[in-house]
Amino acid sequence: MLSLWRRHLADCKPGQKKGRAHTGCNCPVWCDGEVDGVRVRKSLDTRDWQRAGRKLSQIEDPSYGLRPCGHPGCNEMVASGRCARHTREIPRAIAAYHDAHQDAAESTKRSRRRTLRNFEEFITARGLKAVDEIELEHLNAFRTTRPISARTWVKELEHVRHFFRFCVQNDWILKSYADLVPMPRNLQVADREPYTPNEVARIIAACNQIGRGAYERLRARAMILLLRYTALRIGDVAMMERSRIQGGRFSSGQRRMENKCDCPFTPTYRPHWPCFPFPAARMARTAPICFGAATGRDDH
Ligand SMILES: [Zn+2]
Ligand SMILES: [Zn+2]
Repeated sequence: MLSLWRRHLADCKPGQKKGRAHTGCNCPVWCDGEVDGVRVRKSLDTRDWQRAGRKLSQIEDPSYGLRPCGHPGCNEMVASGRCARHTREIPRAIAAYHDAHQDAAESTKRSRRRTLRNFEEFITARGLKAVDEIELEHLNAFRTTRPISARTWVKELEHVRHFFRFCVQNDWILKSYADLVPMPRNLQVADREPYTPNEVARIIAACNQIGRGAYERLRARAMILLLRYTALRIGDVAMMERSRIQGGRFSSGQRRMENKCDCPFTPTYRPHWPCFPFPAARMARTAPICFGAATGRDDH
């Protein structure tokens, strides 16, 4: 049992006279007594009697003022919120999420990292520290902070939802507010303005000003013309294998059916065929990738 008293300063006249019986001044508060058979006599680092009383209760009973962790079934006592087992600081949760999804495709991982980096910046700028502090209104506000299209938001929201489901699985939060954020529906395909003839001419002209040598400029021009006349995806052009061009057609050999592409080289592109460069004289017509990385000295 502990009791409070004021340790009177030298200039506290009534205190000096009456000793511990006097508490009506503003001298530092101490406590004195026994806790579990051990003598305790120490300053409570305050002059406020009420505050000292709360500190005293804490010394007598370490669970004073604590409440059970917010996770159902957890008996851990905490000052507020959830115990260390049942929440995570936001950067740690994001790092754990990436660790757990190492086997996703490179492009997916990149995209998730970008989204969650933005998300972490946004959330920590609002002074939030742990994932269980994030609420629906924060997630809705995240959408409005940057001028992104609905299409981009669909992707980002998918990433954010995936991350919060991971947090639920780990018992760091009880439910995912991200699932309540409305997903844009019925998106119209954005109108694409074609390049004007003048723009096309400038793009082609620019090919003559890039790179370190004639080979790179020729290659850039061939790639641009190929993109111009076939509308192939840039990845298909960059990784175009010579063996997949047969009979005036290019067919990509990707395993996933939805990405498969079979594209005739139109008569419009054929006149440009002669400028189709080969990586090296020595390797002419044997290099597997048409526009493969320059292979060194032999290129020029
Ligand atoms: Zn005093
Ligand atoms: Zn807990």
